Amino acid sequence: MITGGNSGIGLAIAHRFAQEGARVFLTGRDADRLEAAVKEIGPAATGVRGDVTDLSDLDALYAQVRERAGRIDVLVANAGIVADAALGAHTEENVDLTLAVNVKGTLFTVQKALPLLAAGASIVVIGSSNSVRPSEGLEVYSASKAALRNLVRNWARQSRERKFRVNVLSPGATRTPGLMGAAGPIIEQVVDAIVPLGRLAEPEEIASAALFLASDAASFITGAELFADGGHGQI
Ligand code: NDP
Repeated sequence: MITGGNSGIGLAIAHRFAQEGARVFLTGRDADRLEAAVKEIGPAATGVRGDVTDLSDLDALYAQVRERAGRIDVLVANAGIVADAALGAHTEENVDLTLAVNVKGTLFTVQKALPLLAAGASIVVIGSSNSVRPSEGLEVYSASKAALRNLVRNWARQSRERKFRVNVLSPGATRTPGLMGAAGPIIEQVVDAIVPLGRLAEPEEIASAALFLASDAASFITGAELFADGGHGQI
């Protein structure tokens, strides 16, 4: 189950998991993009429309997953937005929206999945290298992604009974409709200057890291954060 599976990183993860033989449920608010994504992936994919900030949407979403699949082996809480500003320019709207989608949406996506999680399930929460290496104008976004790290550590501590693993996967700048639409072509020059590997990530590279965390290859990894960021956050 992948929230925000109709675009960018979520869509690449959905493709990759389907290639590995998984049945994938994709979510998003935009019905047309969802339909296009499901068509692209093929019969392994099911699209379920919903907004992660709306708890009744999440209930309806999980009801469908329960009915059609009965359980969740892997949950990727990927839906997220950038709607930010720098200090001095914040509005109540940009702050509320960023926290609602990135923090509240992720928290309830995970909480409401708990009854459906299979024993040994893996939860991958999509963070960001910006949470450790903030950029000007992305401060509430960075804070929202740092909050996810903290939530994941708490959830890992509470996972003993249900026996799930939960980790953060933090991408660096990745060539997605979301980033390219917001930043434009100038982003190529920016990453050349600030990313040790000197380029944007392709969504498929983030999907490979998600597959690792979701798989048995990561069977003793929980409460951790994996940076797939070309060195941006760590160096
Ligand atoms: P895109 O804008 O391409 O995709 C965002 C996805 O999230 C879409 O599927 C969108 O679907 C969904 N989404 C947004 N808001 C909501 C909502 N309220 N309810 C349900 N779904 C929602 O972005 P990316 O692929 O770039 O980003 C995916 C994740 O990766 C985000 O969490 C982002 O913060 C993170 N990330 C991205 C980086 C990058 O450089 N691209 C770097 C680091 C982290 P719809 O609009 O239909 O609802």
